[in-house]
Amino acid sequence: MHEPTGQVAAQHRANEATMQTAYSAFIRHTQKCDECRTGGMDCVTAAELRQAYRAAKASAR
Ligand SMILES: [Zn+2]
Repeated sequence: MHEPTGQVAAQHRANEATMQTAYSAFIRHTQKCDECRTGGMDCVTAAELRQAYRAAKASAR
């Protein structure tokens, strides 16, 4: 598999890591939050985590 090198690739990997972290935080929250699990909707915290993930995803492109 080809691995890109250099500054751009490093920045891209950093953004991907941020995105993965934000996504994990969101998933972990929904798994342990009663409101998210039983309500079937994002609670306030989940909405914030989802927004953080979306922002990270947008900048990872
Ligand atoms: Zn929640």
